[in-house]
Formats: sequence, structure tokens, C-alpha cells
Amino acid sequence: LASRLFHPEDSVITVGNTKIGGDNLTIMAGPCSVETKEQMIEVARDVKEAGATLLRGGAYKPRSSPYSFQGLGEEGLKLLKAASEETGLPIVTEAICLDTIEVVAKYADVIQIGARNMQNFALLKKAGQIGKPVLLKRGLSATIEEWLMAAEYIMSEGNENVIMCERGIRTFETYTRNTLDLSAVPVIKEISHLPIIVDPSHATGKWKMVRPLSKGAVAVGADGLMIEVHNNPECALCDGAQSLKPSKFKELMNELGIKKQ
Ligand code: PEP
Ligand code: MN
Repeated sequence: LASRLFHPEDSVITVGNTKIGGDNLTIMAGPCSVETKEQMIEVARDVKEAGATLLRGGAYKPRSSPYSFQGLGEEGLKLLKAASEETGLPIVTEAICLDTIEVVAKYADVIQIGARNMQNFALLKKAGQIGKPVLLKRGLSATIEEWLMAAEYIMSEGNENVIMCERGIRTFETYTRNTLDLSAVPVIKEISHLPIIVDPSHATGKWKMVRPLSKGAVAVGADGLMIEVHNNPECALCDGAQSLKPSKFKELMNELGIKKQ
């Protein structure tokens, strides 16, 4: 279902007033985790002003350590909703398990399946059944074939609205958090009609690398970017080191020629 052989034209996915795929360059931005109402409203306003058309933020966090901040849960979803109502930006937020995917779907405009769950087949099927657009991140060590098969799990349940997201893969390199596989963009474009965006924040783990790799992603034909932005990265509860301040995010959007919508 994901193959271009059976669907030659690019798929374009509509979420609220925004489109992903085709000739669009769609920006999703926001903090790693929803922390407070003030944080969400402030960041949502700033990223909208800079040209983002979707608001990201995790309420359920798939943390490597069980002792790390796990997210605010439904309370976080409510804060996301408030920021969304305030700005008009639709929400992309992660579902980490079968127990909570339905509550996530109640608030989310796009359901994110994170790298760690890319092969959680029960969760993929459920995401397919719910029917909201799904942002499918590439697994930490997944081949492109495995990643597309994960998309098939969602699509074969009747949900064709899948957005692929390259977010870096595990390699021997440790300087960056992951290694951004920019070649995945033209590969996916060749063999699939699905839109593909790039997340340079999780790919590198370092805010300074976000700007050059965002440009690289656009140069190789990505349909969009997912970028972590925090109003106070030094105090972020998660992923502060890779989060852009709103001013830096705005500069990057200007450099990419993105305008407020
Ligand atoms: C995230 O987007 O906050 C996240 C946890 O991403 P990934 O699944 O790519 O690590
Ligand atoms: Mn994060």
C-alpha cells in the first residue's frame, strides 16, 4: 500500500489548515515534553509566529530510564489542547502504548508513533484502526524496508494517512546522539508515495546541529521538519540540549524562507 508502484502520485495529507506532502514544506515544532500551561502557550505562539503549522509536545514520554520524567499524561494533553485552541495549530503527540492510545487520539490531530515503538505491531494496528493521521518515526536500528513494513501495518487497517519521519539511526558514531540518514529521504521518495519529514533534533541531540541539518533535509527533498523548541532549554525536563530557543527557531525559519501562515 505504501509503494509508489501502485500509487504513482505523492500522497498529500491534510491536517486542519495544513498539508503534508506534495509541494509543501511543513514545519512541526514545540517542546519535547509538555511541562506547564505557560510553557505550552508561549512556545505555541512563538513557533506559530515563525511559520510552524503544527504543534508538537509529548504528554506520554518513552524515556530510556524509568526514573526520568515520564510526561504529564492526560493533563499534558489538556495543556496541548489549550495551546492549540489559543493558536489554531493542530497537535502532533505521541502514543506509547495500547492502554493510552485512545485518550491520546481524543486530543491529537496527528498520532506520533515513536522510534522505540516502530515495531510495536499491536500499537501500529490500533493506530491504523483509529484513523487519525499517523507520524511514524524510524526505529533506532530499523532498515528502510522494516520502516515501510511498519507503515503497511497501519495502512492495512484502512488508514492511508501515514507520514514517515527520519530521526536518525544507531551507528558506531557517538558524537551525535544518532546519525541522521538523509539518504532515507530520496530512497523513500523513490519507492513510496508517502510524505517524509526529518527530525534533526533527535537525530543529533545538539541544538547547534539543527540548523545545518534542517537545511540538508530540505535540500534532499524532505516534505517537512519536526523541530524541538523550548522557551527555556536549560531548564527543560527532557531534551533541553537539542532544543532551539524561539529566537533561533525564528532565524532558521527565515533562512528557509518559511512564512507565518
Ligand atoms: C520525541 O519526538 O519526543 C521522541 C521521543 O522521538 P523519537 O521516538 O524519535 O526518539
Ligand atoms: Mn524529545
